[in-house]
Amino acid sequence: MTEPKVSLTNASVDQEQFLTILSREEAIARFEAALFPRDMSANDRALTDALGLALASDVFAVVDVPPFDRSNVDGFAVRSADLVTAGEASPVHLRLNNETIACGTAPELPVVQGSATRIATGGPIPRGADAVVMIEHTQPLRNDAIEIRRAVSPGQFVSYAGSDIAQGEILLRAGTLVGSREIGMLAASGIARVPVTKKPRVAIISTGDELVQPGLPLRPAAIYDANGAIVAAAVSENGGEAVFLGAFPDEEDKLEAVMREALAASDILLLSGGTSKGEGDVSHRIVSRLGKPGIIAHGVALKPGKPLCLAVCDGKPVVILPGFPTSAMFTFHDMIVPVLRRLAGLPPRNDARVTAKVPVRIASELGRTEFVMVSLVDGDDGLVAYPTGKGSGAITSFAQADGFLKIDALAEQIPAGAQAEVTLFTPHVRVPDLVIVGSHCTGLDVVTAPLTRAGLSVRSISVGSLGGLAAARRGECDLAPIHIFDEKTDTYNTPFLVSGLELVPGYRRMQGIVFRAGDKRFEGLTAEDAVRAALRDPSCLMVNRNQGAGTRILIDRLLGDARPDGYWNQPRSHNAVAAAVVQNRADWGMTIAPVARAAGLGFIPFAEEHYDFAVVAARKQRPAVEAFLDSLASLETRAALERAGFRPA
Ligand code: AMP
Ligand code: MG
Repeated sequence: MTEPKVSLTNASVDQEQFLTILSREEAIARFEAALFPRDMSANDRALTDALGLALASDVFAVVDVPPFDRSNVDGFAVRSADLVTAGEASPVHLRLNNETIACGTAPELPVVQGSATRIATGGPIPRGADAVVMIEHTQPLRNDAIEIRRAVSPGQFVSYAGSDIAQGEILLRAGTLVGSREIGMLAASGIARVPVTKKPRVAIISTGDELVQPGLPLRPAAIYDANGAIVAAAVSENGGEAVFLGAFPDEEDKLEAVMREALAASDILLLSGGTSKGEGDVSHRIVSRLGKPGIIAHGVALKPGKPLCLAVCDGKPVVILPGFPTSAMFTFHDMIVPVLRRLAGLPPRNDARVTAKVPVRIASELGRTEFVMVSLVDGDDGLVAYPTGKGSGAITSFAQADGFLKIDALAEQIPAGAQAEVTLFTPHVRVPDLVIVGSHCTGLDVVTAPLTRAGLSVRSISVGSLGGLAAARRGECDLAPIHIFDEKTDTYNTPFLVSGLELVPGYRRMQGIVFRAGDKRFEGLTAEDAVRAALRDPSCLMVNRNQGAGTRILIDRLLGDARPDGYWNQPRSHNAVAAAVVQNRADWGMTIAPVARAAGLGFIPFAEEHYDFAVVAARKQRPAVEAFLDSLASLETRAALERAGFRPA
């Protein structure tokens, strides 16, 4: 077969590069090889202007600190040998020299045998003296002598010259970030100016027709630009000067003009979105003509983050981060931060790591380095790392995570029970006071509100009722919120308890049919009649719930064998059902009353669900668990639950 000959246009170069997916390590190596070594220009700045910058070279001490032997207390400079015999029963008298050494006064008289000189904190030790006695440990005798009833050791209350900082030693190393403490050290050493690396100026552009800046109203089908704010903040956190230019539609000509201008005015250009092979994705085409050598990697074996595009244009890094915010974050931290810090003159990040047990199996795609965000909780034998991932589009998984695991490209999974290394997002592990694992409900926020007001930290991990029970059995949480109906006994929750768990009644949630207010097909009917009416109307579209959801059991009960249009639309949350009906993507569905009310939908009550708490008995005495149970029982919480549409048990 003969290939048609094509000229090597920019577009086809791009296409080729995207088809060659590089390993993470190979992509990093090629990116860095195209950028380093390079001239890093340093400049001298006054101390106050050096704040927040990295030192460009080692700074040496030019004087001793303190510059002379110095008294640490108010008292008397003495010769320790004079006081060897001093004690309660054998006081020693010392004659006072006729001078007082204040801070900033150079002593004139020596301390000879049998004498002492008054000295203030910070005063230079006079010739002959080798120790200082605190004024509180002396008795005045007339005007010109003191009595001392305790011995002193040589050097007592003396700071020797150079004991803090010795002239010639390295005061601060190259790469140190200058903060108030560093400025203090430099000032104490008499240094007024230091060599620093200029912050790289990083232009940030979001791309996508759908993006709206936070604070502005959202038009239909639009979303808020999260990446702009996240990337700008992360750039600042890692030594760059972030210049956010806004979000731009995927229009090649306009975007190219903005990108060229941004690149000319900055040291790094960071874009997000538009890096996939999609029709409207134009930024990588533009990048390929911005300068030499151009695109270095387009497609990296990372998860999340595969469509990452790395380029160097006439010496400047140009990067297109994937559009999904969590993908953008991971690729930024893993691949861009090291380069940014190097350009800012900072050492590599030194993120804290801990070892934790992975309670559930985490499957991973072979051939891609995978990052999994985790939430840390205190288990019975050490830390436990729960995956918080909800897919690469979920921004909350970042906020709820304490750190992440890295799964090697060659591993297919982390088996349940394995120990894994977690890189923390913060310098220390912050294990929450109360850990709730199970089914999520907005009413939980009402119950935990008094705890957070009292300064207790609460972590709620939503894994569904059955997942919560399993976690409680393994001792990985304090309590599990559950709502599981048992058909055999016609009761909620109780039949599912095992030993070690106690059921504490929570509240009831009314489940019912939602429809757009005013829809004549449903107005005024019972739930059974409403569903019959829906089934009679072939144009009527339903929205279902996922298999395993408590709500789904109720829907199945109403539908029997019927499979109306919309049955396979099975979102995983109460809110998604309401959103589908509000936005006219479905005409009816089932959700809980508070969600229906918040969405302004018509509601036909159907069945009351029991949302209770399986409490781990061994943890009932913990202060945070007690506080939770107190809140649940309190009149305030019960009233607040009622206001939110729940019925306390
Ligand atoms: P794209 O690579 O442009 O196709 O984007 C992939 C996904 O990320 C789409 O769902 C976009 O709507 C979303 N996305 C792109 N840019 C942003 C952004 N700045 N903030 C939030 N989501 C974004
Ligand atoms: Mg886009």
